[in-house]
Amino acid sequence: MDSRRTSNDQRYFESYDNFQVHELMLRDRPRVTAYHDAIMNNKHLFENKIVLDVGSGTGILSMFAAKAGAKLVYAVDACPTICGLAKELIQNNGLQDHIQVINKRVEDIEKFDHNIDIIISEWMGFYLFHESMLESVIYARDHFLHSSLQNDDNTPEPSESIVIFPSHAYLYCAPFVDQHIRIELNTMWDDYFGLNMSPILPHIKNSDLSECVVETIEPSQLVHDSQLIQSIDLRTIRIDDLRSMRSMCEFEIDNTCIISGFCFWFDCYFSSNNNSSILRSTRLTTSPHTSPTHWKQTLVFLPEDIYPLKGDIVPVNIKLKQSSENRRHYNLTISIKKIKEGANNNNIDDNENEEESSTTTESNKKKRRRRRSSTISSDKRTVSENQQMDTASDTTSSESDNDGNESDEHPIPCSCDRNRCILIKTIIEKYDAENIVE
Ligand code: SAH
Repeated sequence: MDSRRTSNDQRYFESYDNFQVHELMLRDRPRVTAYHDAIMNNKHLFENKIVLDVGSGTGILSMFAAKAGAKLVYAVDACPTICGLAKELIQNNGLQDHIQVINKRVEDIEKFDHNIDIIISEWMGFYLFHESMLESVIYARDHFLHSSLQNDDNTPEPSESIVIFPSHAYLYCAPFVDQHIRIELNTMWDDYFGLNMSPILPHIKNSDLSECVVETIEPSQLVHDSQLIQSIDLRTIRIDDLRSMRSMCEFEIDNTCIISGFCFWFDCYFSSNNNSSILRSTRLTTSPHTSPTHWKQTLVFLPEDIYPLKGDIVPVNIKLKQSSENRRHYNLTISIKKIKEGANNNNIDDNENEEESSTTTESNKKKRRRRRSSTISSDKRTVSENQQMDTASDTTSSESDNDGNESDEHPIPCSCDRNRCILIKTIIEKYDAENIVE
């Protein structure tokens, strides 16, 4: 391991050797309920089995597995203080004969005394991949799971007998309109108790919203249904698959709206066998449509709002790339390709539109490229907003690259009498009137 990786990992584990982080996770009822139900409703899988809990923390999942009838659970965690607490909790619940706490990185374990039948782990970070703890689960699967099969060409085959909880994870993305964050930053300091305080903006962390924002959002802020952008099958995913992930989606706009950025969340499923049963298995969701979890949602702001009209199609490229400086972080790049204008929005001035389409190549060349670097300043559960502000060293970068839209041809707002511009101007005026921050 190189020294940068060692020191990143050291910081990572230090952040977890702090009870407050674990308290936050234990207080996250949707999270714990999903694991509890998945384990307790599948006692037949756990009875008399050997279970490995990768990153056991306080031992909560190990204790569920033991209660579900596991013969032995190896509770592995790299954090010494939290392992000490786990031992106390396990003893307190009379489960010490069924759970062995091992204070090590799972990668540093050579072998266990018994073959592992089942892996359980809570590895998910913000937007699923932050922290890269999934790599440790894959490592454990490939090194210790009794039934994990590898083909000769090293491509894992999904085996019906592999049990990893959760078994599947899905990352979603949907465009959102911001109702507070950018508006508040833009206006509140200009007239603060009658004083212009705007020079403090550069001192406020992430005041330009170039960093991802971890926050819960209201479902009403989503301006389109979500799209699935990554799916993970824990039985087959390989560490190399996680280095760089791309997806492309198109949002067809049902109602004229404002898009301030893109919101990410994930779901996990706990399925023990074939694909058909996944959707019927226990689900842990971090969607804005259900009770909030400590993962909240991850918001990536565009450098500027965009204004698609009804019928437009917004094509979005999303790239998640593991950071070369710190593998626990990702660069998240969003590029919006040219909005495909809906037929209804183009019919006022046919000549003008003909010209627009015939000069597309030229205007593409002239496109302004706006790039921004975004950062989450904390590992997932180093938690409250204030704490996040303090830990600038643990960063997840993201870039939003709004790569040209209708604003390249006409300013926004634009006072010309083109149908599209009139509509956009009306939306902005209405929105501004509704969103004055005192
Ligand atoms: N399972 C617990 C804790 C989840 S938090 C619960 O559900 O409440 C993730 C835990 O995994 C942290 O305590 C962290 O220290 C541990 N962890 C992360 N990577 C690890 C690794 N490679 N080896 C051992 N422990 C790890």
